Amino acid sequence: MSVSLTSAAGSSAGTAIDPKPIQENGQREVFCGLTSIVWLHRRMPDAFFLVVGSRTCAHLIQSAAGVMIFAEPRFGTAILGERDLAGLADANEELDRVVQELLARRPEIRTLFLVGSCPSEVIKLDLAKAAERLNRQHRGHVQVVSYSGSGIETAFTQGEDNALTALVPLLPSSAEKQLLLVGTLADGVEDRFLTLFERLGIDPVSSLPPRRSTELPSVGPATQVLLCQPFLGTTARALKARGAQLLSSPYPLGVEGSCRWFERAAEAFGIDPAHTRSVLDPLAERGRAAVAPHRRVLEGKKLFLLPDSQMELALGRFLQRECGMELVEIGTPYLDRQLQAEELALLPAGTQLSEGQHLEKQLERVRAAKPDLVVCGMGLANPLEAEGIATKWSIELVFSPIHGCDQAGDLAELFARPLRRRQALNFASSQPGNL
Ligand code: SF4
Repeated sequence: MSVSLTSAAGSSAGTAIDPKPIQENGQREVFCGLTSIVWLHRRMPDAFFLVVGSRTCAHLIQSAAGVMIFAEPRFGTAILGERDLAGLADANEELDRVVQELLARRPEIRTLFLVGSCPSEVIKLDLAKAAERLNRQHRGHVQVVSYSGSGIETAFTQGEDNALTALVPLLPSSAEKQLLLVGTLADGVEDRFLTLFERLGIDPVSSLPPRRSTELPSVGPATQVLLCQPFLGTTARALKARGAQLLSSPYPLGVEGSCRWFERAAEAFGIDPAHTRSVLDPLAERGRAAVAPHRRVLEGKKLFLLPDSQMELALGRFLQRECGMELVEIGTPYLDRQLQAEELALLPAGTQLSEGQHLEKQLERVRAAKPDLVVCGMGLANPLEAEGIATKWSIELVFSPIHGCDQAGDLAELFARPLRRRQALNFASSQPGNL
């Protein structure tokens, strides 16, 4: 085993529906959960993510985070060599040695995440036990936790869900009434949210993951959990098992979703609805004004969301209700009806949903529907663009600050941009003398 440290561098009212999604099970085109390390390591600069995997895993994580070449290396790969994979070497001993060397070289690391991969799962390397052993060896210096980021999961965002689930047993207990925001937000967005909660009169508010991995929030029966992202079902259930209460809400994407999200928190804390409206209304007005120029581009355009990030329902709801797009199909890697209940209720009756993926069949439906815009994984974007279909990478939506009323205009712009680009390309190619 060797270690490779990578420089990380609408307005129309929705109708409650009980959609019967198309169930698909076939070839998938998605990133694995290792990808989530890219945003998790930015969130917790005192943590280190050690992937226990192959050279392929190292290449993936290096490529995914390659844009951050000036950052401190806060993740790496303990590469399982042929001897490890063939069972000729004791992978646990090798892992202990790699961790020892890493911690000696990087004493500032406070939390070490051992991240499982397809190869480590194939050779049945028990990273939970390894974390226990390493915790005993390095007690007082670093806490070691493990989770899986392997491609056996169906959505790359499950990497964050698994990482946060691994932290839940470490959260201290508390009986205090508090709001816990769950899911990684951009720091600037989180700062604005904290200011808004303060103005609403909600206190205290903490976040999982925290900005420093050692400053874990507490949890208990009076903790009200508000999910920032729709892909954190396992974490939500682990927090409920610690007694916390899960607030049901649409996700804070777009003006409508963001206002409802804040309203749910305000209701849970007994805030006067008139005060809530006085805080949120000016923001909503500003957000709608920011969306308006992009709505002119998006309105009436046909949208097809392929399953990738697990954010598809919330995005489809925003683009249909606030930007006037026509939903052809919303694909999702898996449909968590509990976590998506409020999003489902806001979709128009008859919205076609699909769960899982059968790539060929989905592409056939895309070609037949001739949508104006397809939201998809990076691997599908270029082939679809070559067929004349505008695309938007769904992974970009996980890396971008898109939450909240203040970001609604930017969120709409992310979808309007490829349509404007496609219009410009079509215009240029229609001009005499141009190809
Ligand atoms: S975890 Fe699996 S899918 Fe992800 S890069 Fe490694 S081998 Fe590939």
